[in-house]
Amino acid sequence: MKWIDIHTHKAYKYQCDVIFIRNAFLYAYVPKQLNYFCSNGLHPWYINQPFDSNELLQLLNQESTIALGEIGLDRLKPNFNQQLDLFKKQLKIGQQLNIPLILHCVKAYPEIIELIKDYQAPIIFHQFQCNIHLTKFLLNQTNVYFSFGKQLFRKQIPPCLDLIPIERIFLETDTSSMHVKDCYKQLAKIKHVKLEALQLCIEENFIAVFGKQFRT
Ligand SMILES: [Zn+2]
Repeated sequence: MKWIDIHTHKAYKYQCDVIFIRNAFLYAYVPKQLNYFCSNGLHPWYINQPFDSNELLQLLNQESTIALGEIGLDRLKPNFNQQLDLFKKQLKIGQQLNIPLILHCVKAYPEIIELIKDYQAPIIFHQFQCNIHLTKFLLNQTNVYFSFGKQLFRKQIPPCLDLIPIERIFLETDTSSMHVKDCYKQLAKIKHVKLEALQLCIEENFIAVFGKQFRT
């Protein structure tokens, strides 16, 4: 059974026991290995980069790209209105393609929840951290999944994690250099489940979001 890293900025060059989605921003990438996929999109920290809708459309149509992202809103970064404008433009493209979405959301949950309500394809909140009230609301949206990484290692585990069943969870390493299996071990401990059961469940979640072709 493989480990799945749903959102990473690195390539696992020598660790082919991981299926991973590398965040490729607005760059093209065509993988040679079967376990290497990417997401494309304009990250809210880099909104000053040139953005062309047609270019994004082309990237999202590459065989290796299986998600739009990470895109989103970040209240701790400048130009919120410009972020909003670019987020909406990208969401529209994602909706047309019906492609899974990987979201970056920092202190902008109400705005994002409003904007994604018509998004039909699966949605994954990366580094999810939100209050109980909005977490409950999002759990009722059956196409929404929650991804955790470094928050799992904090002394204080995010309270929202108690509410979320493993059937709606993914794991990620984001910008860190660790192996995603460390996140699996940590989550298995927190949720009191066997590591193998967690692996199986996350693999099923992956198939539910990205399709049957990923059944190994
Ligand atoms: Zn990231």
